[in-house]
Amino acid sequence: MFVDQRGSNETITRAEVEYALDWYLKRLLGPWLAARCYVRLIHREFDAKNDKATAKAYFINNKDPRRFLIELSTKLKKAPVLRALAHEAVHVKQFAQGQLWDAKGSEGLVCWKKRTVREKDYNYRQRPWEKEAYRVERLLYAAYKRHKEKEKIIF
Ligand SMILES: [Zn+2]
Repeated sequence: MFVDQRGSNETITRAEVEYALDWYLKRLLGPWLAARCYVRLIHREFDAKNDKATAKAYFINNKDPRRFLIELSTKLKKAPVLRALAHEAVHVKQFAQGQLWDAKGSEGLVCWKKRTVREKDYNYRQRPWEKEAYRVERLLYAAYKRHKEKEKIIF
């Protein structure tokens, strides 16, 4: 994985953010595909109304979606940062494996597992890609904590 990290969060080191994202992506994508992902990761302030992480994919071309943007709110503390990062890593996996696409140019249209879906037909938490992201983020984050303890990794 190549990461271009911008900004910072005072509750967690940049080194740990990069390590955790790399660890998540290797678990989700395997080392071969994870090594070929490029992620621009930005720590920034969000509007109060929209105070959560977002992930977006940059497409190099329609068959090679391996460039991503992840934005993380600077208001999150360490554990929520690691959890939000796990959540966004699941979206990166969905994009990188071609399960999820932004149907470019068509507002609110998304391609999920080869079906075109209108985002507003679902409540946010009921969207199938969000259901997967929320389910897997919990497992990933727990596995990451166990890994750090077992390997005695300290940042
Ligand atoms: Zn999400």
